[in-house]
Amino acid sequence: MARIDPSLKQRQKLYDANAHRCCVCKRYDVGLHLHHIDEDSSNTIDENLAVLCVEDHDRHHRPAAYRVNHLDLGPQKIREHKRSWEAFVAETRKPSPAVIATLSAYGSYEQIHSLQLVLQWAERIEYSRSYHLLDGNMDKMTDAVMEELKDFGPGVQIAFIDKPLPIEHCPCCGSGYYRKLDPPVVIRHTDPDWSTQSTCAIYVRADVPWLELTFFMRNDELFHGSLHLCNGNFLHYHSDGIDERVAVRPKPSVRAQATRM
Ligand SMILES: [Zn+2]
Repeated sequence: MARIDPSLKQRQKLYDANAHRCCVCKRYDVGLHLHHIDEDSSNTIDENLAVLCVEDHDRHHRPAAYRVNHLDLGPQKIREHKRSWEAFVAETRKPSPAVIATLSAYGSYEQIHSLQLVLQWAERIEYSRSYHLLDGNMDKMTDAVMEELKDFGPGVQIAFIDKPLPIEHCPCCGSGYYRKLDPPVVIRHTDPDWSTQSTCAIYVRADVPWLELTFFMRNDELFHGSLHLCNGNFLHYHSDGIDERVAVRPKPSVRAQATRM
């Protein structure tokens, strides 16, 4: 069958649906091609065209030319990358996307050594990118993060995870360590119905100053937490991933402080 090249309009539509990135490695600063997934160059329908960078395109066509080639880029794999990536990009453009960007810092407050951006759904990571001080300075790193996000919709929230982690955990220098948000946290931050569909059940223990709290989204349990008076001096809140002890102040009443917490 004769080759059919995609029209300019189809080309632009597909590049836009892929946020102008390779659907495999997500790079945007390289040349991009439209690749016929089934190798039939006359089958020029959207479903058969994947946006690939020149390198991944070449990896697919000449796998033996790479001494190290961890990517098994067969048609099935490329199709999976395309579907996953286009679904992610489409999600980011919804008014309340169910995906979130998380930014972790490594180093100290005086000297941030690297940043890591993770683009994630509640249950899985779509991709992540690390920025290292060696590539420039802090301004350059934050500019790069903003550049990374600018092709997505404006509704994507950015979560800054906690305080900087020590350099030993650096994703560039360490062992590929990364941080992301747990599914209940993502749901809480991204579900447009959180304010009307979430509930909290509170169980009051009669024998000790202790509350058990369970948070639900619709019918699904999201969090379980407990709040108790610890040694008479601290209000201690504990749940998965959160452990916070706050000193009890003389005023207002402990009950009022507990309610606020
Ligand atoms: Zn690529």
